Amino acid sequence: ESVINRIAAGEIINRPSNALKELIENSLDAGATSITISVKDGGIKLLQIQDNGHGIRTEDLPLVCERFTTSKLKVYEDLSTIQTYGFRGEALASISHVSHLSIITKQAESDCAYKANYADGKLVPAKPGGSSDPEPCAGNNGTVITAEDLFYNIPSRKSALKNTRDEYNRIFEVASRYAIHNSGVAFTCRKMGTPKADLSTQQGASTISNIRQIFGGKIGGSLVEIKHKDADLEISFSGHVSSAAHEMHKSVFLLFINHRLVDNTPIKRAVESLYSSILPKASRPFVYLDLRIKPENVDVNVHPTKREVRFLNEDRVTSAIVECMHSKLVSTNS
Ligand code: ADP
Ligand code: MG
Repeated sequence: ESVINRIAAGEIINRPSNALKELIENSLDAGATSITISVKDGGIKLLQIQDNGHGIRTEDLPLVCERFTTSKLKVYEDLSTIQTYGFRGEALASISHVSHLSIITKQAESDCAYKANYADGKLVPAKPGGSSDPEPCAGNNGTVITAEDLFYNIPSRKSALKNTRDEYNRIFEVASRYAIHNSGVAFTCRKMGTPKADLSTQQGASTISNIRQIFGGKIGGSLVEIKHKDADLEISFSGHVSSAAHEMHKSVFLLFINHRLVDNTPIKRAVESLYSSILPKASRPFVYLDLRIKPENVDVNVHPTKREVRFLNEDRVTSAIVECMHSKLVSTNS
């Protein structure tokens, strides 16, 4: 039974960057304004995320790593408070099946923090023979989640992740994209033991300055802002897109739908073909899109490792985006 759970968990959490995405979303759900990510060996040896969010109630600690636990938690008694992020209750459970997971958390009104260790969805003692109850400890308001030795118990998956540099790059990419989309949150990402962070955004910096910080002068002054609301389709979107050729080595397409980092191939293809038809020299566009769709019109039941999402009126929404970008690019370049 436990082996089956582990295999299922390894499908949901298939590499460090994909665990990180879930952990970042949890921190954002918790209202964090500061998120610090520390990484050892591409996140395989250690992946840690510290936030200053509302923390986890002590009485919820035994439950947070159980599958589909969310609806059992006190904090969700009022289901109407659930808005943006996933509502699956599988991320922490899955991570606890494939790593050594610990949580240190403190709510503002609590006198101290508590530390809990997990394996296979349940609390376990810090040392063999000890108590598995969360232990009081020192800590800041918020939550520190540490996953160590990812896939220690799934040798085949672990050996597939040999390139720690590549894994770190994926981690950096996820962190920097969320940083761009959440300019109200300070993001830091660093390899443990190195003095300088690879990513360090300030709370309240503008989206555009975060984009410049992350993608460098390569983006130059080519970014323009788009913004549109379509009452019929019940959507709105905004974003920053490159309006001229720039020296980026590859195109960047960054899509958030209702605050989740996702892929949508129809939009991506349509945008690429727009660029190649009207700005053939800007062959590697930079596109950041923040798309809001009525939640009931989005198919949120996507598998966590599959970023592709589907939504209602995909063709018409795609056309609306392309039209808006088209007129902006044409007016900027005329
Ligand atoms: P879901 O986010 O779908 O509810 P997760 O497995 O990602 O499921 O998280 C389980 C629960 O643990 C969350 O619903 C939340 O109550 C709690 N939790 C996880 N991470 C944090 C965090 N950083 N701060 C506060 N609560 C958290
Ligand atoms: Mg979650």
